[in-house]
Amino acid sequence: MPRCRTCGSEFWPAGPVCPRDFTADLDWVTDPGTGVVNSWVQIHKPYFAGDEVPYVVIQVQLDTGPRLTTSWTGPQLPRIGEPVEVSFRQIADGIALTEFGPPPPDQS
Ligand SMILES: [Zn+2]
Repeated sequence: MPRCRTCGSEFWPAGPVCPRDFTADLDWVTDPGTGVVNSWVQIHKPYFAGDEVPYVVIQVQLDTGPRLTTSWTGPQLPRIGEPVEVSFRQIADGIALTEFGPPPPDQS
């Protein structure tokens, strides 16, 4: 995730400057990948060959600030405000997509 060295904010989508103060002094940081469901929609129309419908697309409010539109991996429909955690789905050699779903149950 890009993070501004001037104001400290993380933002998405990535761009050449910080959207808050337009500085180009940026770092790349590893986001913890946790947040809550901000919005969601269930898609019933296949837009690409091989799409299995219905599927759910969610908008995640990351704990670090940015909102991210992504795929849902939960076993049931999401709830607004539900905690989520990132996982990665490999789609090709060297290419993975982010997905979000409920965090795994506490192992303690
Ligand atoms: Zn900034």
